[in-house]
Amino acid sequence: MKIYREDYKFRSGTSACRWYINENDIPAMRTFQRGLPSQVTPVQKLELQSEDYMEQGVEEKTLFDLKQIDPLADKNKRFQCTVTLISIAENEQWCCRACRVCNSTMIPGDDGYQCTKIDGCSCKQYDWKYKVCFIGADETYSLQFMFFEKKGVELIGTSAETLRKQYDPSSIPPEISQWITHKFTFVVKVLFKKSVKNLEPSFEVLMIKERHGKQATLPNIIHNVSDDDLPPLVTISSKRKIEQASLSYTPQFTDIQDMDVDRQSDAWDTTKKHSESKINDDDNKNQLEHESKKLKVQE
Ligand SMILES: [Zn+2]
Repeated sequence: MKIYREDYKFRSGTSACRWYINENDIPAMRTFQRGLPSQVTPVQKLELQSEDYMEQGVEEKTLFDLKQIDPLADKNKRFQCTVTLISIAENEQWCCRACRVCNSTMIPGDDGYQCTKIDGCSCKQYDWKYKVCFIGADETYSLQFMFFEKKGVELIGTSAETLRKQYDPSSIPPEISQWITHKFTFVVKVLFKKSVKNLEPSFEVLMIKERHGKQATLPNIIHNVSDDDLPPLVTISSKRKIEQASLSYTPQFTDIQDMDVDRQSDAWDTTKKHSESKINDDDNKNQLEHESKKLKVQE
């Protein structure tokens, strides 16, 4: 028996399991029922939420709209959006250790790993699960979209446990990065805990509603992309497509309004230069500190 949200006891099985609930014509069931105490609560069969349910009453939103939702008030709402995956979020691992009992994240503890469940969980065993944080964009904005195990398996086609055997949590497997430049229609909901900590909301992908395939051009916006997470295939194939892309672009943001496509294509380089100059600044700073120490010694 497993427990969900402290109140609901439940039993779950895989497709290889077969359940016989309240079926009295099975001899083994009759024997089992005779052995029960006089007062028992019968088991109820729950209908799982279907994909149809997932689509009901879902509002289509642009990312600019999604950016402005209230993570608290809109905590349980589902939204639909169409985005192109443009990169993987910086400093995020693609998988995590998940507790075998309650699925919470495990962190290194005194002896081995320990579960982070708030009201305590003594389990020390874990499985690797997906926690892939893609940056998705449309013409209006870009935001983080998280794939957890179930949707990760649906997208990637293999479990995190299997991929983990080949790749480190900090190096993104090509099986994952290949989806950068692909466009999808998703049903999503806000990741409340992650969103209240950050300036912008992050979303969990609940359903991959449509796959629009690999895109020749990325949405015409630039936002928080580091050179480490460069999408491998950002080459824009023809000048004509570029013109079409800039025509469809809605000039909504003044900071990118006057940015033409040529500048965009080497924008990655600009980012790189920027980070290089930062490194240089740090070097200069170290040198200055070093010199000031020398001066002190001379005094
Ligand atoms: Zn646990």
